[in-house]
Amino acid sequence: MHVAFLDRDGTLIDEPPDGLVRPEHFRLLQGVLEGLQSLKAQGYTLVMITNQSFYGDASRIRCFEETQEMLFSALKRAGLAFDFVFLCPHSEGEGCNCRKPKTGMVDEFLREHEIDKTRSFVIGDRESADGGIAKAIGVRYIKMESNGTFPTF
Ligand SMILES: [Mg+2]
Ligand SMILES: [Zn+2]
Repeated sequence: MHVAFLDRDGTLIDEPPDGLVRPEHFRLLQGVLEGLQSLKAQGYTLVMITNQSFYGDASRIRCFEETQEMLFSALKRAGLAFDFVFLCPHSEGEGCNCRKPKTGMVDEFLREHEIDKTRSFVIGDRESADGGIAKAIGVRYIKMESNGTFPTF
C-alpha cells in the first residue's frame, strides 16, 4: 500500500491566523480536488493526520466536526473520500504521544498495514509537525505553503 498522509488545516482547507477553522469561513484550498483525484488515480490510500487542540472546549469540537463534515461533503461531490482519518485532540502542553511530530496517531495503522515507504509521503504546511512526522515514519515530506496551492501529482 502506498499512502498519502495529509495534514488538514492550511493544507486542504484555509486556516485563519488564530488557528481555529470555523464553518462560516470554510474554504477548500486551490488544487485540492484535482490533487486528491490524481493521487487516488495513482492508487494512493488517503490518510488524514491532523493536530487539533480542543482544550476540552465544546465550541472548538463543534467547529472541527462541522468543518470536517463540510470537507467530506465537498470531497464526496468530487467522488473522493479519505480512507483513514487520524486526529490528535490534545494541546502541546498535555504531552500526549499522538500530537505530530509524534507518531502515536498512526502507530497502529503502520503496524497493521504494509506500507511502501518509498512511494508514500506526508503533505503539510508545518515543517515541525508535518516534516517531523514524515521523518519519524520514514517517508518523504512534501512541504506546502500554508493556505497555498495544493501540489499536483
Ligand atoms: Mg497545517
Ligand atoms: Zn494527542
